[in-house]
Amino acid sequence: MKSLDAFAQKKLAALANKGLQRKILDTDRTKDGGVLRKGRQLISFCCNDYLNFNHHPKIKRAATQAIKQYGTGAGASRLITGNHPLISQLEQRLARLKDSEDACIFSSGYMANIGIIPALANEQDIIFIDELSHACLRAGGEMSGAHMMFFRHNDMTHLQTLIDQHRLNYHKALILTDGVFSMDGDIAPLGRLSCLAKKYDCWLMSDDAHGLGVIGGGKGSRYIFDPLPDIALQMGTLSKAIGSFGGYLCASKPVIDLIKTRARSLIYTTALPPANAAAALAALDIIDSDPDYCRRPMDNALFFTKALGLPDAQSPIVPIIVGDTAKTMAFAAALEEDGFLVTGIRPPTVAEGTGRLRFTFSARHSQKQIHALVASIQKHNILKAGNTA
Ligand SMILES: *Cc1c(COP(=O)(O)O)cnc(C)c1O
Repeated sequence: MKSLDAFAQKKLAALANKGLQRKILDTDRTKDGGVLRKGRQLISFCCNDYLNFNHHPKIKRAATQAIKQYGTGAGASRLITGNHPLISQLEQRLARLKDSEDACIFSSGYMANIGIIPALANEQDIIFIDELSHACLRAGGEMSGAHMMFFRHNDMTHLQTLIDQHRLNYHKALILTDGVFSMDGDIAPLGRLSCLAKKYDCWLMSDDAHGLGVIGGGKGSRYIFDPLPDIALQMGTLSKAIGSFGGYLCASKPVIDLIKTRARSLIYTTALPPANAAAALAALDIIDSDPDYCRRPMDNALFFTKALGLPDAQSPIVPIIVGDTAKTMAFAAALEEDGFLVTGIRPPTVAEGTGRLRFTFSARHSQKQIHALVASIQKHNILKAGNTA
């Protein structure tokens, strides 16, 4: 269709004009934790494979074995014939890890959020959501039809004010937040959130995509708090530190039963392939048995922030806010020239004027590699140009 192509071209040209056209580049993630892009070997500081499980021999063996035994695909939705026993086993395993009664596996973290929230809330309800929450928490909220109210990032006074003003006008209420914020690397005040949730009968949901495996002894961001906060809905992904694919929700038995009956992104999509479940199970075994290894990404992030004189990292994610989009992308290109892959993050992933370099640290980065990265950042005066979060 000519009109369709014309629309796409015009829209793209307008985005390109603002430096917002995105390109997806072929990237081969090599065994040593590096990447191969455009024929060049780079050290990646932007993968979410925090524990380098993508190439872990035990995990690869578990996945390969599962493919040999069960094949490559799931064949159907979990409600038809796709519910492989390995998926049920993985649910039990995650429920145990998160100290919850039950769990539900989805095909991805995004699918989890757009399934869970609309199954729990509708037009008569209200959702309080941290303004920096991940795009798929926001998408789930919007799909539910509930009234969305954004509270200022990690600002409990603002949340309390919004609850005071609005809670009573609605039936049910949810509070949504990232556990570890994906673009900022800081952590939600889960203790205080759980107190507010309890006091005003709001259902607290945390998206701990970046916490599992690397924070709280590998159990996630909830586990750095004492006392342990009550989080009714603990959601996360198997595609980051776990090195596999898939999303999950840990919650009480009645909630999980309802989700399995009502979440459309679970019912109307094909189940996770058995090999992904096998890989995740093997990864959780390693996390259980080796807390020292799980601490390494965090230690590396702290080494980085100390070397640059930044505030201590709270997670393996450390942003340097540059601001201007073109400048952000130019710095990313300069680092790539020096051999480091650090993707620039720009709107609409982050707010206008907060373009940033987002560094993620993994278990296998060496201090020598981090030193070299720090030297490159200093050489290009990146810190002076930005103001760090
Ligand atoms: C990556 C991410 C997701 C999406 O998980 P996938 O399994 O990759 O779909 C959800 N929430 C947060 C906070 C994330 O960072």
